[in-house]
Amino acid sequence: MARLSQADLISLNRTFDDRSPQELLLWAREIFGDRVAAMSSMQEAGNVICHMLHKVPVKMPVVFVDTGVLFQETLDTRDRLSREYGLTIHTYKPALTMEEQTEKYGILYLSPEGQKQCCEMRKSEPLDAVKGQYDALIGSLRRADGGRRGVCPILAVDPRLNCLRVNVLANFSDEQMEEYISSNKVILNPLHKQGFSTIGCNRCTTPVLPGEPKRAGRWRHLGPWSVYCGINPTDMDPERAPAVDFSQDLIDRILGRQTDFAI
Ligand code: SF4
Repeated sequence: MARLSQADLISLNRTFDDRSPQELLLWAREIFGDRVAAMSSMQEAGNVICHMLHKVPVKMPVVFVDTGVLFQETLDTRDRLSREYGLTIHTYKPALTMEEQTEKYGILYLSPEGQKQCCEMRKSEPLDAVKGQYDALIGSLRRADGGRRGVCPILAVDPRLNCLRVNVLANFSDEQMEEYISSNKVILNPLHKQGFSTIGCNRCTTPVLPGEPKRAGRWRHLGPWSVYCGINPTDMDPERAPAVDFSQDLIDRILGRQTDFAI
């Protein structure tokens, strides 16, 4: 095994800034073959990616975490995408139901510390199940969403899952999103029309008012300091210099280098 660090990706990330999301999806499929999947939480950006997989087409499964306390509209959206776009969507769930968790730990999402613990158990730990299955996960982070995402790289290493996150929509502007959604009639979670700019668990997500930041509806009861759940590593710890362990051959393919030896 060899190490691939975030710093190793600087030059490739610069080159990729000119590529369209569809080109990045094709690149990921070509480099990672069957060891790449897309992630979607059934919100706008994830649905755009699902539509692109269907339209281009690019064959890869979709990974979805059902925390057990999602809105019914979110689960219905997943089922529509699977049916109408012909996608294979793998659903991952937490070990405990919300009732079992509450019995054991109390109502965690009512405090900032508890929220971290709850998101860890209900979002991040279920996703751990994909570790070792995929070398890359397609993400839907966009710089236009601002906050920490304002500088998110297209390629980001994910040490926890030992894979590369490929944020194919990183450069997609709000105008491009709107245009893509309307011209392709992308299937959307109906909650967006009810004022939800982002959509997570039913315990912790509310609509936003006109003029509020997009993520103001997340953990509103905890105050403005809680806006991310931790499932996307680039949201959480921008100061670290993370790395993943890949074969030298895979690193060479990612970086577009010729492999001049065989192990
Ligand atoms: S969003 Fe709320 S309910 Fe959902 S996992 Fe996080 S803290 Fe728990």
